[in-house]
Amino acid sequence: MNGFTTKAIHGVREPDTHHALRAPVYDSVTFEFESSEDIENAFRGKKPSHTYSRITNPTVTDFEKRLTLLSGGLGTIAVSSGMAAISDTILSIAGAGDNIVISPFLFGNTFSLLASTLKRWGLEIRFADFRLPETLEQVIDGRTRAVYLETITNPQIAVFDIPALSRIADRHGVLVILDNTVMTPYAFDARPAGVHIEVLSATKYISGGGTAVGGAVIDHGNYDWGKNPYFKDDVKAYGKHCFLRRLRQEVYRNTGACMSPHAAYMLSLGLETLALRIERSFDNALGMAEYLLERKDHVTSVNYAGLTYSGYHEIAERLFGKRYGGILTFTLESKEKCFRFMDALRIVRRATNINDNKTLILHPASTIYCEFPPEEQAKLGVTDTMLRLSAGIEDKEDLIADIEQAFVALK
Ligand SMILES: *Cc1c(COP(=O)(O)O)cnc(C)c1O
Repeated sequence: MNGFTTKAIHGVREPDTHHALRAPVYDSVTFEFESSEDIENAFRGKKPSHTYSRITNPTVTDFEKRLTLLSGGLGTIAVSSGMAAISDTILSIAGAGDNIVISPFLFGNTFSLLASTLKRWGLEIRFADFRLPETLEQVIDGRTRAVYLETITNPQIAVFDIPALSRIADRHGVLVILDNTVMTPYAFDARPAGVHIEVLSATKYISGGGTAVGGAVIDHGNYDWGKNPYFKDDVKAYGKHCFLRRLRQEVYRNTGACMSPHAAYMLSLGLETLALRIERSFDNALGMAEYLLERKDHVTSVNYAGLTYSGYHEIAERLFGKRYGGILTFTLESKEKCFRFMDALRIVRRATNINDNKTLILHPASTIYCEFPPEEQAKLGVTDTMLRLSAGIEDKEDLIADIEQAFVALK
């Protein structure tokens, strides 16, 4: 069984008393035991069993096993959201006085988590220009606990040389965390690129239908945890499992950011069709980008790594094969034109999500970046003439026809 979709559908099979073909949803908070000895053994970790759904739940475990299989990781912990995956990971590996290296191009809530929330707890963030991997060398020091990357940034649509950045981090013994939400383990295999911890918002492509908020932390089992002072003792006791154990038995348990069984069910369903939907979405993104590029009468620029002139085209081809992601941005002459264009769309929906089955459009400057003053927005590549399109899985011809009729309405 080698294919991604075969594994997604058949790779994890738990025996079921009723021979149900689909794993049921265990909407139960707690689990009972035959004897007090059994419950003691469960709590002492001598006999792995479900005790309480904030720690483990059979439906959530099923989702975790599927993701572990599909990513080739050592293990997965499913959490309540993408942000929970990111915060639980950072809380597990760093403390006051430590620093994390990031690019200014970063998902807004992640930036806010690191630069505001965790700053109050003594965490420092350091910036490197990930377009120039060597700039990492200048900021890493003995208190650097991680280099934090995203596979394709949004809305800059930048692709960094992840293997080159990982090699530099590795030379310094620094953990590499990758937010692989926009590619998922299907479209980007993180481990060969030197990534140690992969975080995902399952809310996006994995859900597909926009049915549930969820996230996951995948440990690729390739980091020497002895290099992180907080794991020195744990490494001796638990070896390569020490990070996953720390999460499960301490941080995930204590922050309470658990995935609900119902969300796990919806997201497992999503995993089964993930590969098909991603191919379609990427193809739609490329088709829309190419169409927009031709509409020079309205469109002043198009930003998508799939376009050969993009500064990220070459690196995207090297890292992802002939795949460039499902998100693109383009600019019109004015904010007013952007708004009128958006309002004229009939199939493409105005909503703030990405990687949904539905094609979505957003004006980043007035929405997800509205808290940033214009000069800060400019530094992040966000302007008020820019629109972001997230390609869904509709028929490409219908999407292009919708865009075309919206341009007609602009006249
Ligand atoms: C949406 C998103 C997140 C946050 O995920 P939630 O499930 O909404 O918490 C994190 N990173 C990226 C790249 C995202 O697109």
